Amino acid sequence: MQNNLIFENIIKKKIPAQIIYQDEKVTAFKDINPKAPVHILIVPNFFIASSNDINKKNKSILGHMFYIAVDIAKQKKISKEGYRIIINCNKNGGQEINYLHMHLLGGKKLKSFS
Ligand code: 5GP
Repeated sequence: MQNNLIFENIIKKKIPAQIIYQDEKVTAFKDINPKAPVHILIVPNFFIASSNDINKKNKSILGHMFYIAVDIAKQKKISKEGYRIIINCNKNGGQEINYLHMHLLGGKKLKSFS
């Protein structure tokens, strides 16, 4: 399976995932290999390969993804302590799945970049 199809099939509920939120624009589900007590992926319901493919027409989806990520952080009660939102892009950014996704990570002190 092309790896972008994994997320397409999760959105369409053709393969199992712990979906915690879905609306007409985005789907949020638990990462299969969590790097923190809370590790949720937020994806658009339509295919965008990476952040390089954000354009004038589709850019509003990022605001909605961000809004939903913060809302989930509040629901999971990690917002006060803090969390991290990440989008990896391509090889050097560490993107493994070629389908734009936002990571929401929290529930523990995350390692600093510096
Ligand atoms: P990336 O490295 O592309 O930014 O992140 C991809 C993420 O997708 C990884 O954290 C990985 O654990 C997660 N992942 C890969 N395959 C699956 C899957 O089949 N189901 C779920 N829920 N997460 C997946």
